[in-house]
Amino acid sequence: MFDFFQYKNNELFCEDANVSEIIGAENTPAYIYSKNSILQHYTEIRDAFAEARPLICFSVKANSNLTILKILADAGAGFDVVSGGELFRVLKIGVPPDKIVFAGVGKTSEEIRYALENNIFMFDVESEAELLNIDTIANSLNKRAGVALRINPDIDAKTHAKTTTGKKENKFGIDFETTEKIIKEIETYKNIDLKGIHVHLGSPIYDPEPYVLALKKVNDLLQRLIQSRKMQGFEYLNIGGGYCISYTGEAVKRPADFARDIIPITKKFNAKLIMEPGRFIVGNSGILVSKVTYLKSSTGGKKHVICDAAMNDLIRPSLYDAFHRIWPVHTSVSMPEIELPDKKPDTDGELELVDIVGPVCESSDVLAKDRWFPLVKEGELIAVFSSGAYGFTMSSNYNSRPRACELLVDGRTVSTIRRRETYEDLIAIEKEG
Ligand SMILES: *Cc1c(COP(=O)(O)O)cnc(C)c1O
Repeated sequence: MFDFFQYKNNELFCEDANVSEIIGAENTPAYIYSKNSILQHYTEIRDAFAEARPLICFSVKANSNLTILKILADAGAGFDVVSGGELFRVLKIGVPPDKIVFAGVGKTSEEIRYALENNIFMFDVESEAELLNIDTIANSLNKRAGVALRINPDIDAKTHAKTTTGKKENKFGIDFETTEKIIKEIETYKNIDLKGIHVHLGSPIYDPEPYVLALKKVNDLLQRLIQSRKMQGFEYLNIGGGYCISYTGEAVKRPADFARDIIPITKKFNAKLIMEPGRFIVGNSGILVSKVTYLKSSTGGKKHVICDAAMNDLIRPSLYDAFHRIWPVHTSVSMPEIELPDKKPDTDGELELVDIVGPVCESSDVLAKDRWFPLVKEGELIAVFSSGAYGFTMSSNYNSRPRACELLVDGRTVSTIRRRETYEDLIAIEKEG
């Protein structure tokens, strides 16, 4: 599962680079990404869906480092952005505008203008109000705006409540009745080119079934509209992202499994396919390395491993109760193949039950709770796995903590793709009074 992060003689390697040695030069906390892992995941999903010839638009919010975006752009990827800032990043690295799609419920007029001026491929429109605004701005710029309607299929993708997006009560997408109304009235939007349909259900999704159910529902609606001659069909079908990764080491469905079930239903749309994977491409291609600062045992209470990475560096455990595997970087205890929450894993050395926490002044600043962990000493390095997606991009400066550095490994070569922030960076754009 972590093919590019392996232990050799009790030492963790990223590709052919020794993680302790990398950190020796860079200090902690540090994100380390494997370039070849990113490329392999991109290739895997592209090949799995090859029959449908999709435009794969990497979801920038999963990992927006310029170097990583450039690696994917060079491999042929397009991009899914959800803000003007993300659009700025992909334009900066020279992505052709006809490979950029723009989603999000709250695109501001400034963002819409910025996207239109740069001739992006299409907006994934999430409301009537937004469609009207895009039309007005396009008209003022004398441009045509390509759009796809993001439909809310009212499907439970069976992911965490905070990451599901395709249910009626979520803020995302347009309901069926409104979709029908917009399609009927599309002629009134003078500067809009309605190019497609977009469906994104949330993330991570561990089974193809929600995609198939959602696409069936959407297809039923479209067929009904086509039969009643309200429309002729669409040029593009965007099926979004959400494809799972394994956080535990257990086998999970892979792109080929998703493709087998999803491709047949997409064929009914008779449209070109767009996909927006984020997590699948980068999630298991990155780790967060931290150092143990203190060990603390309270009498009759818990043992805490206090480390120098915190919720400001990786918020997923605090925000979503997400499970990330953690293991020492140098250890004689083998990392188990599989590790499940709340279960003592099978391995060859002594383990103790600990909470692994950061220094931030919040009780929710926990990287792992009640975790069976090898005995570690102060100063030792530990690795938080599966941190390549929604890791650094969700980090903040809370507690005035400079953000971690990001390092990229390619074979033996290590490059700093974002230097660690300094105290000066923290105040660089502030005023003293
Ligand atoms: C976040 C997001 C994605 C990517 O989801 P992953 O789980 O990272 O694949 C794709 N499309 C849209 C519209 C999103 O908001």
